[in-house]
Amino acid sequence: MKRKDFLKIGAAAFLAPTAMKLQSLKSWADGLPHTDIMPVMFVGHGNPMNAIMRNEFHQTWQQLGNALPKPKAILSVSAHWLTRGTYVTAMEKPKTIHDFGGFPKELFDAEYPAPGAPDFAKDTMSLIKTTDVKDDYQWGLDHGTWSVLLPMFPKADIPVFQLSIDYSKPPQYHYELSQQLKELRRKGVLIMGSGNIVHNLGMVDFEGKTTFSWASEFDQKIKGYIDNGDHQSVIHYDKLGSIASMAVPTNDHYLPLMYTLGLQDKKDNVSYFNDKIDLGSVAMRSILLSSGS
Ligand code: ZN
Repeated sequence: MKRKDFLKIGAAAFLAPTAMKLQSLKSWADGLPHTDIMPVMFVGHGNPMNAIMRNEFHQTWQQLGNALPKPKAILSVSAHWLTRGTYVTAMEKPKTIHDFGGFPKELFDAEYPAPGAPDFAKDTMSLIKTTDVKDDYQWGLDHGTWSVLLPMFPKADIPVFQLSIDYSKPPQYHYELSQQLKELRRKGVLIMGSGNIVHNLGMVDFEGKTTFSWASEFDQKIKGYIDNGDHQSVIHYDKLGSIASMAVPTNDHYLPLMYTLGLQDKKDNVSYFNDKIDLGSVAMRSILLSSGS
């Protein structure tokens, strides 16, 4: 995408009306159960400018950060770390990666100086049995991670580490890999998949006037499957045919959802936030799985 197009996305989102209902979100958050098992999230991150624009998505992330129990660490599976093989960041001080172009200086100046979590990285490597997970000291925190965490946990005092996505593997593989990480929830790790259920940048409407019917339809179908606990249909989303090929032209932003759903426990309550289509073709629908016991 060209530089001016990125800027247009930023401007359009900034001008979007904020229909945030703070009071209703607070009531919802107050109703979250408090247990020793950490929730799991899927966060639709969308436009990187959401990190610093005070729009409704940003404000919901702020509210959620206040409502969630404080994790011991955060494990992010971001759409922006695609690898061959699987890696986990294991450095003490992950750098903030500005992995985009054409945005205002303010976004490049943003830093998220959270410490790393080398011990939890080792736990992650030993929990995954189906592939050889390697420790990484080069990556850091890409914008799929920090653009969300900056508003959500602005103090940056919670250790954060990332797990890469082996882009040579199909959705079922990622779902099964994630299932091996359930123990981390009990150890106080907040696991976050960060992507978008619908993500077609080529069709983005910079004016923000259109919402494509295939975007809404696909988003609603996936929500319906999640409501019914029908993860197999979420995994095999391509069976939805033409709406799937429009909503998910490449599945880099869809795959983080596999990590969230793979960690779902039967007792988890499912709730949604930011369930809007932004810029016509980017679903911001986000999911919170919180333990009901
Ligand atoms: Zn992204």
